[in-house]
Amino acid sequence: MRFPFEPKFITGRFGTLSEFRKKNGMQPHSGVDWARPEGTPIPAIANGTIVLQQFSQVLGNVSVLRVMDKQGKLWYVGFCHLKAEGHGVGTKVQEGDTIGFVGNTGSASSGSHLHLTVSKELKGVFGPTSVKIDPIQFIKDNK
Ligand SMILES: [Zn+2]
Repeated sequence: MRFPFEPKFITGRFGTLSEFRKKNGMQPHSGVDWARPEGTPIPAIANGTIVLQQFSQVLGNVSVLRVMDKQGKLWYVGFCHLKAEGHGVGTKVQEGDTIGFVGNTGSASSGSHLHLTVSKELKGVFGPTSVKIDPIQFIKDNK
Protein backbone atom coordinates (compact mmCIF):
# COMPACT_ATOMS: atom_id res chain seq x y z
CA MET A 1 0.00 0.00 0.00
CA ARG A 2 0.98 3.62 -0.44
CA PHE A 3 -0.11 7.03 0.74
CA PRO A 4 -2.03 9.00 -1.89
CA PHE A 5 -0.02 12.16 -1.16
CA GLU A 6 2.93 13.28 0.91
CA PRO A 7 2.39 13.81 4.66
CA LYS A 8 3.16 17.52 4.35
CA PHE A 9 -0.22 18.02 2.63
CA ILE A 10 -2.22 16.56 5.53
CA THR A 11 -4.60 19.14 7.01
CA GLY A 12 -6.75 16.90 9.21
CA ARG A 13 -6.04 13.66 11.05
CA PHE A 14 -8.32 10.80 12.06
CA GLY A 15 -10.20 11.08 15.35
CA THR A 16 -9.46 14.71 16.05
CA LEU A 17 -12.11 16.88 17.67
CA SER A 18 -11.46 20.54 16.93
CA GLU A 19 -13.10 23.41 18.82
CA PHE A 20 -15.31 23.95 15.77
CA ARG A 21 -16.42 20.31 15.80
CA LYS A 22 -17.03 20.39 19.56
CA LYS A 23 -19.09 23.57 19.38
CA ASN A 24 -21.25 22.20 16.56
CA GLY A 25 -21.83 18.83 18.19
CA MET A 26 -19.95 17.04 15.42
CA GLN A 27 -18.25 13.66 15.73
CA PRO A 28 -14.45 13.31 15.71
CA HIS A 29 -12.92 13.51 12.23
CA SER A 30 -13.69 10.26 10.37
CA GLY A 31 -10.70 10.19 8.04
CA VAL A 32 -7.58 11.94 6.89
CA ASP A 33 -7.58 15.13 4.82
CA TRP A 34 -4.98 15.99 2.24
CA ALA A 35 -5.30 19.50 0.77
CA ARG A 36 -4.47 19.40 -2.95
CA PRO A 37 -5.58 21.61 -5.84
CA GLU A 38 -8.83 20.71 -7.58
CA GLY A 39 -8.26 18.25 -10.39
CA THR A 40 -5.13 16.64 -8.91
CA PRO A 41 -5.10 12.93 -9.87
CA ILE A 42 -5.50 10.64 -6.86
CA PRO A 43 -3.53 7.38 -6.92
CA ALA A 44 -5.18 4.22 -5.56
CA ILE A 45 -3.57 3.31 -2.22
CA ALA A 46 -3.60 -0.41 -3.08
CA ASN A 47 -4.68 -2.95 -5.67
CA GLY A 48 -8.42 -3.41 -5.50
CA THR A 49 -11.85 -3.17 -7.05
CA ILE A 50 -14.21 -0.19 -7.22
CA VAL A 51 -17.34 -1.45 -5.49
CA LEU A 52 -19.39 1.72 -5.15
CA GLN A 53 -19.76 5.14 -6.73
CA GLN A 54 -22.15 7.45 -5.00
CA PHE A 55 -23.01 11.10 -4.57
CA SER A 56 -23.68 11.97 -0.96
CA GLN A 57 -25.00 15.33 0.21
CA VAL A 58 -22.28 15.47 2.85
CA LEU A 59 -19.33 13.68 1.23
CA GLY A 60 -19.96 14.69 -2.39
CA ASN A 61 -18.75 12.31 -5.07
CA VAL A 62 -17.44 9.18 -3.37
CA SER A 63 -15.60 6.20 -4.84
CA VAL A 64 -15.18 3.13 -2.68
CA LEU A 65 -12.23 0.81 -3.32
CA ARG A 66 -12.25 -2.69 -1.81
CA VAL A 67 -8.74 -3.74 -0.85
CA MET A 68 -7.12 -6.67 0.94
CA ASP A 69 -4.79 -6.32 3.90
CA LYS A 70 -1.72 -8.48 4.63
CA GLN A 71 -3.88 -10.96 6.55
CA GLY A 72 -6.21 -11.35 3.58
CA LYS A 73 -9.05 -9.38 5.18
CA LEU A 74 -11.18 -7.08 3.05
CA TRP A 75 -11.53 -3.36 3.79
CA TYR A 76 -13.41 -0.51 2.17
CA VAL A 77 -11.55 2.68 1.35
CA GLY A 78 -13.60 5.81 0.71
CA PHE A 79 -12.24 8.55 -1.54
CA CYS A 80 -14.49 11.52 -0.79
CA HIS A 81 -15.31 14.99 -2.19
CA LEU A 82 -14.06 13.96 -5.66
CA LYS A 83 -14.36 16.41 -8.53
CA ALA A 84 -16.47 14.02 -10.59
CA GLU A 85 -17.42 10.39 -10.66
CA GLY A 86 -14.45 8.17 -11.34
CA HIS A 87 -14.20 4.67 -12.80
CA GLY A 88 -17.35 2.58 -12.94
CA VAL A 89 -18.26 -0.04 -10.39
CA GLY A 90 -16.43 -3.31 -10.98
CA THR A 91 -13.26 -1.68 -12.32
CA LYS A 92 -10.09 -3.27 -11.02
CA VAL A 93 -7.24 -0.89 -10.28
CA GLN A 94 -3.60 -1.36 -9.42
CA GLU A 95 -1.85 0.52 -6.64
CA GLY A 96 -0.90 3.92 -8.04
CA ASP A 97 -3.53 4.00 -10.79
CA THR A 98 -5.56 7.20 -10.87
CA ILE A 99 -8.79 6.51 -9.05
CA GLY A 100 -10.30 9.98 -9.30
CA PHE A 101 -9.56 13.69 -9.04
CA VAL A 102 -9.44 15.94 -6.00
CA GLY A 103 -12.52 18.12 -5.70
CA ASN A 104 -14.65 20.15 -3.35
CA THR A 105 -18.04 18.41 -3.63
CA GLY A 106 -20.37 17.80 -0.67
CA SER A 107 -21.48 19.99 2.22
CA ALA A 108 -18.68 18.78 4.54
CA SER A 109 -15.99 20.11 2.25
CA SER A 110 -14.59 23.58 2.75
CA GLY A 111 -11.95 23.77 0.08
CA SER A 112 -10.37 21.38 -2.37
CA HIS A 113 -9.09 18.25 -0.59
CA LEU A 114 -9.19 14.47 -0.42
CA HIS A 115 -10.98 12.98 2.60
CA LEU A 116 -9.89 9.33 2.86
CA THR A 117 -11.66 6.82 5.10
CA VAL A 118 -11.22 3.12 5.87
CA SER A 119 -13.96 0.82 7.17
CA LYS A 120 -14.60 -2.90 7.56
CA GLU A 121 -18.08 -2.40 6.09
CA LEU A 122 -19.02 -1.01 2.69
CA LYS A 123 -21.69 1.23 4.20
CA GLY A 124 -19.24 2.17 6.95
CA VAL A 125 -17.72 4.62 4.50
CA PHE A 126 -20.88 6.70 5.01
CA GLY A 127 -21.28 5.79 8.68
CA PRO A 128 -19.97 7.36 11.89
CA THR A 129 -16.33 7.62 12.94
CA SER A 130 -16.82 4.70 15.35
CA VAL A 131 -17.03 2.19 12.46
CA LYS A 132 -13.82 3.44 10.85
CA ILE A 133 -10.12 3.15 11.52
CA ASP A 134 -7.17 5.49 11.04
CA PRO A 135 -6.18 5.36 7.34
CA ILE A 136 -2.59 6.39 8.12
CA GLN A 137 -2.09 3.49 10.51
CA PHE A 138 -3.85 1.14 8.09
CA ILE A 139 -1.56 2.05 5.20
CA LYS A 140 1.56 1.91 7.41
CA ASP A 141 0.60 -1.55 8.69
CA ASN A 142 0.15 -2.86 5.15
CA LYS A 143 3.09 -1.32 3.32
ZN1 LIG B 1 -12.04 15.15 6.28
